[in-house]
Amino acid sequence: MINQTAYGLGANRSVIRDLFEYGRGRAALVGEENVFDFSLGNPSIPSPAQVNETIRQVLADTDSLVVHGYTSAVGDYATRKAIADDLNARYNAGAEPEDFFIGCGAAPELVAVLKALAVPGGEVLTVAPYFPEYKPFAEGAGLTFKVVPPDVPDFQINFEALEALLTEKTQALILNSPNNPSGVVYSGETLQRLSALLTAKSEAYGHPIYIISDEPYRELTYGGIVTPWVPHFYPNTVVCYSYSKSLSLPGERIGYVYVPKTAADAKALYAAVAGAARQAGHVCAPSLWQKVIARCTHLRPDLEAYDRNRKTLYEGLTALGYEMAKPDGAFYLFIKAPGGDAMAFSEKAKQKDLLLVPGDGFGCPGWFRICYCVSYDMIQKSLPVFAALIKE
Ligand code: PLP
Repeated sequence: MINQTAYGLGANRSVIRDLFEYGRGRAALVGEENVFDFSLGNPSIPSPAQVNETIRQVLADTDSLVVHGYTSAVGDYATRKAIADDLNARYNAGAEPEDFFIGCGAAPELVAVLKALAVPGGEVLTVAPYFPEYKPFAEGAGLTFKVVPPDVPDFQINFEALEALLTEKTQALILNSPNNPSGVVYSGETLQRLSALLTAKSEAYGHPIYIISDEPYRELTYGGIVTPWVPHFYPNTVVCYSYSKSLSLPGERIGYVYVPKTAADAKALYAAVAGAARQAGHVCAPSLWQKVIARCTHLRPDLEAYDRNRKTLYEGLTALGYEMAKPDGAFYLFIKAPGGDAMAFSEKAKQKDLLLVPGDGFGCPGWFRICYCVSYDMIQKSLPVFAALIKE
C-alpha cells in the first residue's frame, strides 16, 4: 500500500513545472529564440567568482577527510560563527553560533520549523500570494494550513482578514519578503502593525504565535530598498534563509535556520527544529558547502542584470496598460490578467509561446507571475507579444 498524499504530490507535476516542460518541448520544435519562458525562478546571474575560487581554496587547504566528512548535525561551528558575525555586522542582530541550524536550503528548513511547531490541532497561516509549497510542507507536518486573502493591489497584508483567521490554535504565520510571486517587500509600517497584532493575540491566547520568516530573496532588492530585519520588529521570529538566490546556488542546497535568543522558548524551539530535521533525515548539510559559506558570508549578489530586466518589463508593460504590484524585490512581477481570468489569459499567451504562471496556485486568482531571471534579449523580444495579447 502506498501513501496517497505522497503519491499525489509525486505523480502530478506543478503548474510551473508543466509550463517549463512545455516550453522545452516547444523550443525543440520552433527554436529556443521563439519561446518566451517566464515560468521558472532559476537564477540567471552567475555566482560571484569568489565562490568558485573559495571551493578551490577549501579543497587545497583542508584535509580531504574533513572536507567530505560528516559535520556536526546542526552544522560546523565555524560556519555558524561566520553567519552570526555577518548578521551582527549588518543588523546588529545579537546572534550567536548556537542559534543556527545549517540546512539544505529554505525548503527543508521550513519543513523542520513547521514540524517543530506542529502540536495536535495546530494551525499555520500565510499571506496570499504565497509560495505554493507551503501547503504540502504545513500539511505534511500535521498542521492545518490557512491563507490570508491578498491585499490587492499593493500586496502588503490584509489585516482585517488576518485578524479574522487568527485563533487560539494558530502556531505561526509564514511570511515571505521579498515575496514570491509578487516581488513586494513588506514595509516597516506593515511589520509594525503585524507585530502589534500578533503580540496582542499571543497574550490573549496565552502562547506565542511565531513568525516564520522565509527569506531566500532577502538581498534581492532594488532602487535603494532594504528588506527590513523581521526579528527587530517581532522577537518571536524564526528565520529560514537560503543561498539559492542570493548567491545563485539553488542546486547546492545550503542555508540556515536562525532561532534568535529573544524568541519565546528559544532553547526548546531550537532543539525541536534540530529534532524535526533529524526525524526528516535532514542533518549534516553538505560539508564542502558549509566550509565555502563560512568564507563567503560577506558576498552580495550583483543585481545589475536583474534590475535592467525589471525596469524594462515594468516600464514596457505599464506603458502597454498592464497593472502590477510595485516590484521592489526578488525577481518576479505579479500582473493583473487583462479580462480578469488568469488561467484563460495564460492559455492564450501559451498559444503565442509566451509562458506565464497563473496566480491561482499562489492563492491569488486573476493575476499572473512573470519570472524575470531570463535573458534581456528574450525580454525585449517578448514585449510585442505582450502588446498583441492585451490588444486581443
Ligand atoms: N521559499 C520561497 C518563497 C521560494 O521562492 C523558494 C524557492 O524558489 C523556496 C522557499 C525554496 O528555496 P530553496 O531552494 O532554498 O529550498
